[in-house]
Amino acid sequence: MVYPIVKFGDPVLEREAETVTEFDTPDLNKFLDDMFESMYAAKGVGLAAPQIGVGRKIAVIDCSNGENPDEKLILINPRILKVEGKQEGEEGCLSIPGFREQVRRGKRVTAKAQNARGEEFEVTGEDLLARALLHETDHLHGRLYITHISALKRDLMKRKIKKLQRAGDWD
Ligand SMILES: [Zn+2]
Repeated sequence: MVYPIVKFGDPVLEREAETVTEFDTPDLNKFLDDMFESMYAAKGVGLAAPQIGVGRKIAVIDCSNGENPDEKLILINPRILKVEGKQEGEEGCLSIPGFREQVRRGKRVTAKAQNARGEEFEVTGEDLLARALLHETDHLHGRLYITHISALKRDLMKRKIKKLQRAGDWD
């Protein structure tokens, strides 16, 4: 099932998500399938559960856009362990469609998470994967990428979004 993507302005995006404590259940497995389906439908490389209105610490990433099953990544209750180096690049978010900004992120990132069975694992990624690990983990703490840009740019973006909301072009 493809869920609609929740957009900026919905409080679920700016709340700390809840830790997942039950694993390997039919509900969780179905939800994970739905998350991948929703992410591919929206043409994203990452999706966090709050973005489909579910405040739980679950995210999925696939930097291959569905081309390579080996790149499918499920992150439950992820934590960032290590961030090395710096990269500059444009970043966007499915919940803030139509906007992209330069965001400085770590170049190489190691995260620890649980899989669908609750087993802990570590993943290290560079470049796009590093950016996705940071971006999606941020989501689960109620942080959007716009918290990493200047206040000036953020205010400008928020004003543009308000205009779109008033025009009925946002929800
Ligand atoms: Zn996002």
